[in-house]
Amino acid sequence: MEARQLPERANMGTEQESLAVESFRRTLFRHGLRLGRAQTTTLQINVGLLCNQVCKHCHLEAGPNRTKVMDEETFNDVVAFAQKGRFETIDITGGAPELHPNLIRMIETLSSLSDRLMVRSNLSALEENDPNRLIDVFIKHGVIVVGSLPSADSVQTESQRGKGVFEKSIHALKRLNAVGYGKKKTGLQLDLVSNPPGAFLPPSQAQAEERFRVILEKKWDVVFSNLFTFANVPLGRFRQWLHQSGNLETYLERLYSSFNPCVVEGLMCRTLMSVAWDGYCYDCDFNLAARLPMAGSTSHISEMEGPPEPGTPVAVGDHCYTCAAGSGFT
Ligand code: SF4
Repeated sequence: MEARQLPERANMGTEQESLAVESFRRTLFRHGLRLGRAQTTTLQINVGLLCNQVCKHCHLEAGPNRTKVMDEETFNDVVAFAQKGRFETIDITGGAPELHPNLIRMIETLSSLSDRLMVRSNLSALEENDPNRLIDVFIKHGVIVVGSLPSADSVQTESQRGKGVFEKSIHALKRLNAVGYGKKKTGLQLDLVSNPPGAFLPPSQAQAEERFRVILEKKWDVVFSNLFTFANVPLGRFRQWLHQSGNLETYLERLYSSFNPCVVEGLMCRTLMSVAWDGYCYDCDFNLAARLPMAGSTSHISEMEGPPEPGTPVAVGDHCYTCAAGSGFT
């Protein structure tokens, strides 16, 4: 069998050394903290970098020219792995999963292997390739739809995601609402994820959720289940933008000075593992983007006996300040 191509390490640049930003590992140590795994309950599957958008904040640099998607063999390795353990949640992400030619078969295969099955969507991609057929499959398998919408304001959204994206996103949300997604008592969960359209931290989740609810309902007659906010991670396209706009230093120091030791216990990497389209595993999607292997050793899903043991150290980098800033991203 042909030797597998090992993933390349992402170029993190050397700016870090020049800044007064202590390494994340040292900050944890200074607070007497250790970032170790708990029981792994979520398997996140990144089906590829193919996307219909070229968002400014994308840590994975996904786009229409990124053709790397999960092949049949790797998907079968993922299914075999998921059958070994019982995950509470399987989370399908990308790029835009809707553009993967086998998404429907993936959903049909995975939905019996966990209690919850999520599909992350940038919403505009949902409007491509027969959306009603895909939504019927979502309903049949009780898929939780997690839509990303940076802002309830069209100008802010399009400044980050491109012209026409806001209108398409609203259209997709209305299509989902029309079949019951996001509505009370339907059991069809529609969550939204919002991130700031620039180099600043998000407002409190409760505030942001209230604001989204009022505006989306009043202006667009759109409803949703929950809203989650997260700060932009200084990796990939967002890091390039920070660098080119001269915001990198201030942003990294803003994250560093917002470090909140109280949120470390609840960080997602403690209970989630992420498998890339090529089968290699990471502690989270951000480490995938940074190509920071799980627990420091490159592991392919076909070679893993099961999820990492509780207590296994999480691989960290300075992008981790993003998750531990303010009320954290858990
Ligand atoms: S980026 Fe966040 S979720 Fe990932 S390892 Fe770092 S702290 Fe954990």
